[in-house]
Amino acid sequence: MANSNNRRKFMTTTLQSVGLTALGGMLWSGYTHEVKASPLVLRPPGAIKEEDFLTACIKCGLCAEACQNRDTNIDKETGEAREGTLKMAKGGDHTLIGTPYFIPTEVPCYMCEEIPCVPVCPSGALDIASVSNEKEELDINMSRMGLAIVHKESCIAFWGIQCDACYRACPLLDVAITLEYQKNERTGKHAFLLPVVQDSACTGCGLCEMACVTEKPAIFVLPNEISKGRAGSHYVKGWDEKDQERVKDAKKIKTVNERSEKEASDYLNSGDLY
Ligand code: SF4
Ligand code: SF4
Ligand code: SF4
Repeated sequence: MANSNNRRKFMTTTLQSVGLTALGGMLWSGYTHEVKASPLVLRPPGAIKEEDFLTACIKCGLCAEACQNRDTNIDKETGEAREGTLKMAKGGDHTLIGTPYFIPTEVPCYMCEEIPCVPVCPSGALDIASVSNEKEELDINMSRMGLAIVHKESCIAFWGIQCDACYRACPLLDVAITLEYQKNERTGKHAFLLPVVQDSACTGCGLCEMACVTEKPAIFVLPNEISKGRAGSHYVKGWDEKDQERVKDAKKIKTVNERSEKEASDYLNSGDLY
Protein backbone atom coordinates (compact mmCIF):
# COMPACT_ATOMS: atom_id res chain seq x y z
CA MET A 1 0.00 0.00 0.00
CA ALA A 2 2.76 2.36 1.00
CA ASN A 3 4.53 1.40 -2.26
CA SER A 4 1.48 2.22 -4.38
CA ASN A 5 1.06 5.59 -2.57
CA ASN A 6 4.71 6.42 -3.22
CA ARG A 7 4.34 5.42 -6.88
CA ARG A 8 1.24 7.64 -7.23
CA LYS A 9 3.05 10.55 -5.55
CA PHE A 10 6.04 10.03 -7.84
CA MET A 11 3.82 9.95 -10.94
CA THR A 12 1.94 13.10 -9.84
CA THR A 13 5.20 14.99 -9.19
CA THR A 14 6.63 13.83 -12.52
CA LEU A 15 3.52 14.86 -14.45
CA GLN A 16 3.47 18.21 -12.65
CA SER A 17 7.06 18.92 -13.59
CA VAL A 18 6.47 17.78 -17.19
CA GLY A 19 3.43 20.09 -17.29
CA LEU A 20 5.39 22.99 -15.83
CA THR A 21 8.25 22.37 -18.27
CA ALA A 22 5.78 22.31 -21.19
CA LEU A 23 4.13 25.51 -19.92
CA GLY A 24 7.56 27.09 -19.47
CA GLY A 25 8.46 26.00 -23.00
CA MET A 26 5.29 27.55 -24.39
CA LEU A 27 5.90 30.80 -22.52
CA TRP A 28 9.55 30.86 -23.61
CA SER A 29 8.64 30.17 -27.21
CA GLY A 30 6.03 32.97 -27.03
CA TYR A 31 8.70 35.23 -25.54
CA THR A 32 11.33 34.41 -28.19
CA HIS A 33 8.69 34.80 -30.90
CA GLU A 34 7.97 38.31 -29.63
CA VAL A 35 11.69 39.13 -29.58
CA LYS A 36 12.29 37.79 -33.09
CA ALA A 37 9.23 39.60 -34.45
CA SER A 38 10.61 43.00 -33.47
CA PRO A 39 12.48 44.30 -36.57
CA LEU A 40 9.38 46.13 -37.82
CA VAL A 41 8.84 48.04 -34.62
CA LEU A 42 9.39 51.80 -34.38
CA ARG A 43 11.26 52.90 -31.27
CA PRO A 44 11.34 56.31 -29.51
CA PRO A 45 13.69 59.09 -30.66
CA GLY A 46 17.33 58.36 -29.84
CA ALA A 47 16.84 54.59 -29.62
CA ILE A 48 20.08 52.71 -30.16
CA LYS A 49 20.39 49.83 -32.66
CA GLU A 50 17.49 47.40 -32.19
CA GLU A 51 19.54 44.39 -31.05
CA ASP A 52 21.36 46.55 -28.46
CA PHE A 53 18.13 48.30 -27.50
CA LEU A 54 16.52 44.98 -26.60
CA THR A 55 19.21 44.28 -24.03
CA ALA A 56 19.74 47.86 -22.81
CA CYS A 57 16.11 48.83 -22.17
CA ILE A 58 15.16 48.01 -18.59
CA LYS A 59 11.45 48.40 -19.40
CA CYS A 60 10.95 51.09 -16.77
CA GLY A 61 8.39 52.99 -18.86
CA LEU A 62 9.83 56.41 -17.99
CA CYS A 63 10.01 57.44 -21.66
CA ALA A 64 6.35 56.57 -22.25
CA GLU A 65 5.39 58.38 -19.07
CA ALA A 66 7.30 61.49 -20.13
CA CYS A 67 5.66 61.30 -23.55
CA GLN A 68 2.17 60.89 -22.15
CA ASN A 69 2.68 63.87 -19.88
CA ARG A 70 3.84 66.17 -22.64
CA ASP A 71 2.02 69.49 -23.20
CA THR A 72 1.28 68.65 -26.83
CA ASN A 73 -0.74 65.68 -25.65
CA ILE A 74 -3.81 67.83 -25.16
CA ASP A 75 -6.40 67.84 -27.91
CA LYS A 76 -6.68 71.50 -28.92
CA GLU A 77 -10.37 71.18 -29.83
CA THR A 78 -11.66 69.25 -26.84
CA GLY A 79 -8.99 70.20 -24.30
CA GLU A 80 -8.81 66.54 -23.34
CA ALA A 81 -5.65 64.51 -22.89
CA ARG A 82 -4.83 62.27 -25.84
CA GLU A 83 -3.09 58.92 -25.69
CA GLY A 84 0.69 59.31 -25.68
CA THR A 85 2.83 58.30 -28.63
CA LEU A 86 4.87 55.70 -26.80
CA LYS A 87 3.23 52.46 -25.75
CA MET A 88 4.80 49.77 -23.60
CA ALA A 89 4.59 46.45 -25.46
CA LYS A 90 2.20 43.84 -24.14
CA GLY A 91 1.91 40.19 -25.09
CA GLY A 92 0.83 39.92 -28.75
CA ASP A 93 2.30 43.31 -29.71
CA HIS A 94 5.01 41.53 -31.75
CA THR A 95 7.93 42.91 -29.87
CA LEU A 96 9.70 42.30 -26.59
CA ILE A 97 7.14 42.77 -23.83
CA GLY A 98 7.69 45.91 -21.74
CA THR A 99 9.67 47.84 -24.37
CA PRO A 100 8.46 51.19 -25.75
CA TYR A 101 7.30 51.58 -29.35
CA PHE A 102 4.82 53.55 -31.41
CA ILE A 103 2.38 53.05 -34.26
CA PRO A 104 2.17 56.17 -36.49
CA THR A 105 -1.41 55.55 -37.63
CA GLU A 106 -2.53 55.50 -33.98
CA VAL A 107 -0.34 58.25 -32.48
CA PRO A 108 2.73 59.44 -34.40
CA CYS A 109 5.69 61.14 -32.74
CA TYR A 110 4.92 64.86 -32.51
CA MET A 111 8.60 65.70 -32.57
CA CYS A 112 8.55 67.68 -29.32
CA GLU A 113 11.29 70.31 -29.36
CA GLU A 114 12.42 69.43 -25.83
CA ILE A 115 12.25 65.64 -26.53
CA PRO A 116 11.11 64.82 -22.98
CA CYS A 117 11.21 61.06 -23.59
CA VAL A 118 14.97 60.86 -24.13
CA PRO A 119 16.75 62.48 -21.13
CA VAL A 120 14.66 60.46 -18.65
CA CYS A 121 15.97 57.14 -19.95
CA PRO A 122 18.24 55.73 -17.23
CA SER A 123 19.76 52.88 -19.22
CA GLY A 124 21.27 54.43 -22.35
CA ALA A 125 18.71 52.64 -24.54
CA LEU A 126 17.78 56.16 -25.68
CA ASP A 127 20.98 57.97 -26.54
CA ILE A 128 20.98 61.73 -25.87
CA ALA A 129 24.06 62.26 -28.09
CA SER A 130 22.24 60.89 -31.12
CA VAL A 131 19.56 63.57 -30.81
CA SER A 132 21.91 66.44 -30.02
CA ASN A 133 23.29 68.94 -32.52
CA GLU A 134 26.84 70.28 -32.77
CA LYS A 135 26.07 72.80 -29.99
CA GLU A 136 25.19 69.78 -27.85
CA GLU A 137 21.58 70.95 -27.62
CA LEU A 138 18.71 68.50 -27.88
CA ASP A 139 17.47 68.65 -31.45
CA ILE A 140 14.57 66.44 -32.47
CA ASN A 141 15.44 66.95 -36.14
CA MET A 142 18.49 64.74 -35.54
CA SER A 143 16.34 61.76 -34.57
CA ARG A 144 16.10 58.84 -36.98
CA MET A 145 13.24 56.66 -35.76
CA GLY A 146 12.76 55.27 -39.25
CA LEU A 147 12.33 56.36 -42.83
CA ALA A 148 9.09 57.16 -44.67
CA ILE A 149 8.59 55.21 -47.89
CA VAL A 150 6.11 56.19 -50.63
CA HIS A 151 4.30 53.32 -52.33
CA LYS A 152 3.87 54.80 -55.80
CA GLU A 153 1.20 52.35 -56.91
CA SER A 154 -1.25 53.40 -54.20
CA CYS A 155 -0.25 57.08 -53.78
CA ILE A 156 -2.99 58.95 -55.66
CA ALA A 157 -0.59 61.82 -56.49
CA PHE A 158 1.08 59.34 -58.86
CA TRP A 159 -2.31 58.85 -60.54
CA GLY A 160 -2.44 62.57 -61.26
CA ILE A 161 -4.95 63.35 -58.49
CA GLN A 162 -4.01 66.42 -56.51
CA CYS A 163 -3.01 65.46 -52.97
CA ASP A 164 -0.39 66.93 -50.69
CA ALA A 165 -1.68 65.67 -47.33
CA CYS A 166 1.59 64.00 -46.36
CA TYR A 167 3.65 66.96 -47.54
CA ARG A 168 1.57 69.39 -45.47
CA ALA A 169 1.73 67.16 -42.38
CA CYS A 170 5.51 66.95 -42.31
CA PRO A 171 7.12 69.11 -39.60
CA LEU A 172 10.14 69.38 -41.90
CA LEU A 173 8.18 70.51 -44.92
CA ASP A 174 10.39 71.03 -48.00
CA VAL A 175 13.27 69.48 -46.10
CA ALA A 176 12.26 65.92 -45.23
CA ILE A 177 9.56 65.75 -47.87
CA THR A 178 9.45 67.70 -51.09
CA LEU A 179 7.03 67.89 -54.03
CA GLU A 180 8.51 67.05 -57.38
CA TYR A 181 6.88 68.44 -60.52
CA GLN A 182 6.55 65.95 -63.35
CA LYS A 183 4.80 66.42 -66.70
CA ASN A 184 1.94 64.04 -67.42
CA GLU A 185 3.10 62.58 -70.74
CA ARG A 186 -0.17 60.67 -71.19
CA THR A 187 -2.51 63.68 -71.23
CA GLY A 188 0.07 66.30 -72.16
CA LYS A 189 -2.05 68.82 -70.23
CA HIS A 190 -1.73 67.96 -66.55
CA ALA A 191 1.21 67.71 -64.24
CA PHE A 192 2.03 65.41 -61.39
CA LEU A 193 3.11 66.82 -58.03
CA LEU A 194 4.82 63.87 -56.42
CA PRO A 195 5.86 63.51 -52.78
CA VAL A 196 9.53 62.61 -52.41
CA VAL A 197 11.02 61.73 -49.03
CA GLN A 198 14.55 62.97 -48.38
CA ASP A 199 16.45 60.20 -46.69
CA SER A 200 18.97 62.59 -45.14
CA ALA A 201 16.32 64.57 -43.23
CA CYS A 202 13.34 62.29 -42.53
CA THR A 203 13.07 61.58 -38.80
CA GLY A 204 10.53 58.77 -39.14
CA CYS A 205 7.99 60.60 -36.98
CA GLY A 206 5.08 59.14 -38.95
CA LEU A 207 3.00 62.33 -39.17
CA CYS A 208 2.82 61.84 -42.94
CA GLU A 209 1.60 58.26 -42.53
CA MET A 210 -1.08 59.44 -40.12
CA ALA A 211 -2.20 62.16 -42.58
CA CYS A 212 -2.28 60.01 -45.72
CA VAL A 213 -5.78 59.94 -47.24
CA THR A 214 -5.70 56.47 -48.81
CA GLU A 215 -7.48 53.53 -47.15
CA LYS A 216 -4.15 51.99 -46.16
CA PRO A 217 -1.44 54.68 -46.08
CA ALA A 218 0.53 54.95 -49.30
CA ILE A 219 3.33 56.56 -47.29
CA PHE A 220 4.53 54.68 -44.24
CA VAL A 221 7.49 54.58 -41.91
CA LEU A 222 9.73 51.54 -41.58
CA PRO A 223 12.72 51.13 -39.25
CA ASN A 224 15.98 52.12 -40.95
CA GLU A 225 17.38 48.60 -40.94
CA ILE A 226 14.41 47.48 -43.02
CA SER A 227 13.86 50.50 -45.26
CA LYS A 228 17.42 51.30 -46.28
CA GLY A 229 19.74 49.49 -48.64
CA ARG A 230 23.49 49.49 -48.34
CA ALA A 231 25.77 50.14 -51.33
CA GLY A 232 28.83 48.62 -49.66
CA SER A 233 32.43 49.82 -49.78
CA HIS A 234 33.10 48.87 -53.44
CA TYR A 235 31.18 51.87 -54.73
CA VAL A 236 32.62 55.36 -54.44
CA LYS A 237 30.82 58.66 -54.98
CA GLY A 238 33.33 60.80 -56.86
CA TRP A 239 31.61 63.97 -55.63
CA ASP A 240 31.43 63.07 -51.94
CA GLU A 241 34.24 64.48 -49.80
CA LYS A 242 33.88 61.69 -47.25
CA ASP A 243 34.57 59.22 -50.00
CA GLN A 244 37.90 60.80 -50.92
CA GLU A 245 39.60 58.95 -48.07
CA ARG A 246 38.10 55.70 -49.32
CA VAL A 247 39.33 56.50 -52.83
CA LYS A 248 42.86 56.85 -51.41
CA ASP A 249 42.52 53.45 -49.72
CA ALA A 250 41.04 51.96 -52.85
CA LYS A 251 44.16 52.97 -54.81
CA LYS A 252 46.12 50.49 -52.75
CA ILE A 253 43.83 47.63 -53.80
CA LYS A 254 44.33 45.78 -57.08
CA THR A 255 41.33 45.29 -59.34
CA VAL A 256 38.48 42.91 -58.62
CA ASN A 257 38.65 39.52 -60.44
CA GLU A 258 41.86 40.65 -62.17
CA ARG A 259 39.76 41.77 -65.15
CA SER A 260 41.77 44.91 -65.57
CA GLU A 261 45.18 46.19 -64.58
CA LYS A 262 43.65 49.55 -63.66
CA GLU A 263 43.73 50.52 -60.02
CA ALA A 264 40.59 49.92 -58.00
CA SER A 265 39.53 53.56 -57.72
CA ASP A 266 39.72 54.06 -61.50
CA TYR A 267 37.81 50.87 -62.02
CA LEU A 268 35.07 51.92 -59.62
CA ASN A 269 34.66 55.34 -61.20
CA SER A 270 35.20 54.50 -64.84
CA GLY A 271 31.61 53.40 -65.52
CA ASP A 272 32.79 50.20 -67.25
CA LEU A 273 31.55 47.86 -64.55
CA TYR A 274 30.23 44.68 -66.11
S1 SF4 B 1 9.46 63.43 -29.11
FE1 SF4 B 1 7.57 63.91 -28.00
S2 SF4 B 1 5.91 62.85 -29.07
FE2 SF4 B 1 7.85 61.98 -29.80
S3 SF4 B 1 8.10 60.18 -28.50
FE3 SF4 B 1 9.25 61.86 -27.52
S4 SF4 B 1 7.85 62.82 -26.08
FE4 SF4 B 1 6.64 61.49 -27.43
S1 SF4 C 1 13.14 55.05 -20.42
FE1 SF4 C 1 14.75 53.86 -21.46
S2 SF4 C 1 15.00 52.00 -20.22
FE2 SF4 C 1 13.02 52.92 -19.63
S3 SF4 C 1 11.49 51.92 -20.96
FE3 SF4 C 1 12.12 53.81 -22.02
S4 SF4 C 1 13.80 53.14 -23.38
FE4 SF4 C 1 13.52 51.50 -21.85
S1 SF4 D 1 8.17 60.58 -41.30
FE1 SF4 D 1 7.01 61.77 -42.81
S2 SF4 D 1 6.30 63.57 -41.64
FE2 SF4 D 1 7.98 62.65 -40.43
S3 SF4 D 1 9.88 63.72 -41.11
FE3 SF4 D 1 9.64 61.86 -42.42
S4 SF4 D 1 8.55 62.59 -44.24
FE4 SF4 D 1 8.25 64.15 -42.64
